[in-house]
Amino acid sequence: MGEFDLIARHFSRPAQSDSVEVGIGDDAAVLRPTPSASLVVSTDTLVEGRHFRSGVDPEALGWKAAMVSLSDIAAMGGFPRWLTLALTLPEADDHWVAGFAAGFRAAATSCQAELVGGDITRGPLTIGVTALGECLDAPLTRSAARLGDVLVLTGATGGAAAALALLESVTEEDIPPSLLHRLDRPVARVAAGRAARGLAHAAIDVSDGLLADLRHVLDASGVGARLNANALTPDTDLQAAATRTGRAAAQWMWAGGDDYELLVAVPPTHARTLLEIWREQGLQPIEIGRVTEASGLHWAGDAPTMDPVSSGYQHF
Ligand code: ADP
Ligand code: MG
Repeated sequence: MGEFDLIARHFSRPAQSDSVEVGIGDDAAVLRPTPSASLVVSTDTLVEGRHFRSGVDPEALGWKAAMVSLSDIAAMGGFPRWLTLALTLPEADDHWVAGFAAGFRAAATSCQAELVGGDITRGPLTIGVTALGECLDAPLTRSAARLGDVLVLTGATGGAAAALALLESVTEEDIPPSLLHRLDRPVARVAAGRAARGLAHAAIDVSDGLLADLRHVLDASGVGARLNANALTPDTDLQAAATRTGRAAAQWMWAGGDDYELLVAVPPTHARTLLEIWREQGLQPIEIGRVTEASGLHWAGDAPTMDPVSSGYQHF
């Protein structure tokens, strides 16, 4: 099976929306952005063994590959619209590509985004996804956090990191579904990001680890933060995983990556409104601290027990 068969069987579909003038099948896609909208563009690469484990279910991998990029659009407060997919495959495995494409499409559709093009080459398994979205008004950036802002998460962190740690010693079947789900089936918080626009000052999605991503916001905004270590408490599954592996749950919650919750800095005058909207969306938001004038991170009370060298994932 060649690349054209793979494309025809698994990726080519009639355009879903009027915004796609020319979709998969020509030299390039031709898109019709909404007049006067800003385009929001983000690219991510996932490498086997680094961003995902070898042998992971292709359907889950397709889902996650799309969601990771859609999460970036969510963190800007944008509407996801279009996706492109650069697939590097060691072999043309029809069954694998079918699963991957199904997962990818399900994730895209759930965020009202559409696959409009891509590329397939042979090589070590690598997935590149570009997401394009639109903003009709000001996007949510990392650099606009202000003194006194409340720092709020769209939901609990740590589950993905706990699942990854458990995988070092047990098989998938022995991992609580709630944790494995956080690792394999992240959900881009698109509606939450949309709601935050106009209420919050700044936003980021938690991909590298909560503290590391918070630091990006603080550095970009030229402010610091005071955090409440007790704000994050492990649920039963997370606590059991910590006990089982001899690790600290706090490490996973504050520094583990791959959660894809949003972290926003919202002025106190708007915090209650935003929390109410997020709860109506079915989220369980968590307030973790405040933005302070002094730079750097400070803890209100005792700091959580963590590995001191860990400051989020970095490639180099
Ligand atoms: P070209 O050689 O002109 O770059 P390709 O043979 O790479 O064309 O691709 C043919 C068509 O299939 C293009 O429209 C391209 O966008 C689309 N395509 C290729 N790979 C993928 C993929 N993985 N997902 C979606 N569309 C793809
Ligand atoms: Mg090509």
